[in-house]
Amino acid sequence: MKRIGLIGGMSWESSALYYSLINGLVKERLGGTHSARCILTSVDFADIEVLQFSGDWEEAGRLLALEAQGLEAAGADFLVLCTNTMHRVVREIREAVGIPLLHIGDVVSREVLNAGLGTVALLGTAFTMEQPFYRNFISAYGIDVLVPPEAERAAVHRVIYEELVLGVVSDESRQDLTGIIADLVGRGAQGVILGCTELELLIGQGDSPVPVFPTTRLHAVAAVDEALR
Ligand code: GLU
Repeated sequence: MKRIGLIGGMSWESSALYYSLINGLVKERLGGTHSARCILTSVDFADIEVLQFSGDWEEAGRLLALEAQGLEAAGADFLVLCTNTMHRVVREIREAVGIPLLHIGDVVSREVLNAGLGTVALLGTAFTMEQPFYRNFISAYGIDVLVPPEAERAAVHRVIYEELVLGVVSDESRQDLTGIIADLVGRGAQGVILGCTELELLIGQGDSPVPVFPTTRLHAVAAVDEALR
């Protein structure tokens, strides 16, 4: 079994989910007392958040590249960056190490194509919904990406930073997001990418009339596939 190197802490709420999913999947596939060989490095999200909001992606990339180097030195065979937003600096991370990184955008795009869908809605942080690094990555697979209008984007962003990364899961926010998903389906979305690793703590398939693509779960499955390949 390969050793998975997880770059987590963004936020730890979703890293905990990654850890649980990855170990559960290994146990499911290998049985008995099997569990995942993995190393988790976990940043202080407050430091990362400051850099995100000030637009200092260069420094954020430098910090995460150092985390990646630590994982490589500790014996990780490949990397999993446990956040969609910070894939903004995936180039900096890849350049700093000699081991591969399993890109969350590749994983989710392949799932969307496997489901036979051509147009999907994308929910995530404002950085993920508005900046080209994520949308263009998905579009390069030939998938059309819809995002909510500005006020709804701000609402989703607020729920992520003021609730989910702090472990707050509220029915009111679930209802708000369910309404936003319904609007996007009305605009032609055939599926919904939960493009923030905390969103699946709040939203599940039961909250959407079209298939949802939970990036944490999909990324965890792909990591286990790779570890056991
Ligand atoms: N975990 C979230 C994501 O997948 C948001 C927190 C972050 O900015 O890293 O984008």
